[in-house]
Amino acid sequence: MSSTIAAISTPNAAGGIGIIRLSGENAVKIADRCFRAVSGQALCDLPGYRAAYGNFFDEGGNIDDGVAIVYRAPRSYTGEDVAELCCHGGLYVTQKILRLVFSLGAVPAEPGEFTKRAFLNGKMDLSQAESVMKVISAQGESALKAARNTLSGNVSKRINAICSSLVSSAAALAAWADYPDEDIPAVESRNLEETLKDVSDRLSKLIMDYDTGKGVTEGVNTAICGKPNAGKSTLMNLLTGYERSIVTSVPGTTRDSVEETVRVGDIVLRLSDTAGIRNASDLVESIGIKRAKEKIDGSDLIIAVFDGSEELSDEDEELIELLKNKTCLAVINKSDLPQRAEISVIKKAFSHCIALSAKNEETADKIKTALEEILGTGGLDFSGELLAGERQRRCCENALGYIGGALNALSAGYTVDAVNVDIDCAINELLTLTGKKASEEVVNEVFKSFCVGK
Ligand code: GDP
Repeated sequence: MSSTIAAISTPNAAGGIGIIRLSGENAVKIADRCFRAVSGQALCDLPGYRAAYGNFFDEGGNIDDGVAIVYRAPRSYTGEDVAELCCHGGLYVTQKILRLVFSLGAVPAEPGEFTKRAFLNGKMDLSQAESVMKVISAQGESALKAARNTLSGNVSKRINAICSSLVSSAAALAAWADYPDEDIPAVESRNLEETLKDVSDRLSKLIMDYDTGKGVTEGVNTAICGKPNAGKSTLMNLLTGYERSIVTSVPGTTRDSVEETVRVGDIVLRLSDTAGIRNASDLVESIGIKRAKEKIDGSDLIIAVFDGSEELSDEDEELIELLKNKTCLAVINKSDLPQRAEISVIKKAFSHCIALSAKNEETADKIKTALEEILGTGGLDFSGELLAGERQRRCCENALGYIGGALNALSAGYTVDAVNVDIDCAINELLTLTGKKASEEVVNEVFKSFCVGK
């Protein structure tokens, strides 16, 4: 018999409603012992999908009034009996009811344990379970759309279809190799090659779309850099919508990195405003600069800010050199002032370049369009299949590697067995992705990142 778990499923903050959720064989029984419905009906006698209004009580009397909802296995989120106790959303009252259900036999739920039980009870596969957290953490319409789509099982369907096609090929190969005396037709290597290439294309597309969509679904690590006074802090404030960095006209006031997450349209930027890139003699300033250089290396995208009202300095040249081969958006700032910078030099160095005034709020749209172009998110269909996270991407990439191995073995004329080993490994990776064959460690890893109560 599995234990009955309980947790507060609403945020740890005061609110209109607080929900204590129980799941397991004794969920309704425990709820019944601390809830009295005004109708007089016992929760234990209720069928699934029923709610009752009444009072939560302990030996000291009534704690709060509220609603208890009963779900019956298997028709619940976890696939087990579930009771949701909805009380007023005070921190104390929810804690008190939680402690009460613990005293009646429930045990504290681990992070993600409700969803883990849903997975173990076959209510969803691993890829869907992962998208539950993506729905919760979605920061924009497209990110939500992508997560909802994975949750509905579309990625799983796509992966299962790829898997089926590999399983058919592997089975045909094995049958032909293992029973040479039977009249089993030989697998045409051209057909097999076609199937493997098709699988390879489909996996590559999933990986590519995930990488492109990452700017929307996960956020892009972004560094803003440029010489002191170019307008980095002003630009960052424009993006964040409030005064996050200290703006001053004294060069070098942005001493250290300041981090912020902002949404530009649907794209989430994990921004860091860095100290100006220059060989400062001031020690504090140079610590900031060292970090700024590290930041550039650790960033997926750099917004390089140049002061258009001044001629390009040595520091600007140095920055241009430092940013070679990086994904960059060059911003020529202070377009409201007479322009003295050699714009052609900047345009030649960066494939994406915009001129604007960071002091003008209307320029935010210009940045959004440029970012969509750089990241390629503008044309991406978020209602299509998008992998939900790095683990799923890794499985696809590993599978892709094995398919490559199988194709090489095939073209080198290796035995059927050698080809089949790679196909088997690819199938295993895909089964790990959906959780049909995931190890306990993989499953635990997936649910580790969940919040308690989900
Ligand atoms: P940082 O050192 O690169 O972070 O530069 P700041 O954002 O602190 O800006 C330096 C100075 O330039 C401040 O006085 C800003 O008000 C000014 N500034 C920033 N952007 C613009 C702009 O687009 N036009 C004008 N005229 N001044 C700007």
